[in-house]
Amino acid sequence: MGWEPAPPSPGRARKALHAARRGLGVVDYTLAKRALLREFHQGLLSRLEICDAHPELLRAARYLGTQAPHPCPVCDASELRLLAYVYGDGMNRDNGRAFEVGEALSMAAGRGAACYVVEVCTGCSWNHLSEAFAARSAG
Ligand SMILES: [Zn+2]
Repeated sequence: MGWEPAPPSPGRARKALHAARRGLGVVDYTLAKRALLREFHQGLLSRLEICDAHPELLRAARYLGTQAPHPCPVCDASELRLLAYVYGDGMNRDNGRAFEVGEALSMAAGRGAACYVVEVCTGCSWNHLSEAFAARSAG
């Protein structure tokens, strides 16, 4: 599952993700996300509990986010955006900063860092870790 079954999209984020897969190990968080959404639909979690994006995250999503290839799983709006955080020893002051997805992936690949792609809905504040990429050492 993951990104593959989504209809073809010219989105930059999607292309960047595909490119990054060639050099980076990928962890897909689809299952964890589904479990959370199922609990929401069953009424075990309230919208307030799962749509808790920090104002800082919402702002980053507005400025750096690229349009996600699917609508928001909670409010169904097309306000879902992807952005990325990069963590690694070689990142120095860029450690933990939010970046546009494509930029973050190439940076992570170049510096042996880990890249976390987060989906954020600027409509309802839903947010979840979408995918994580860990730089793989060659050979
Ligand atoms: Zn939403």
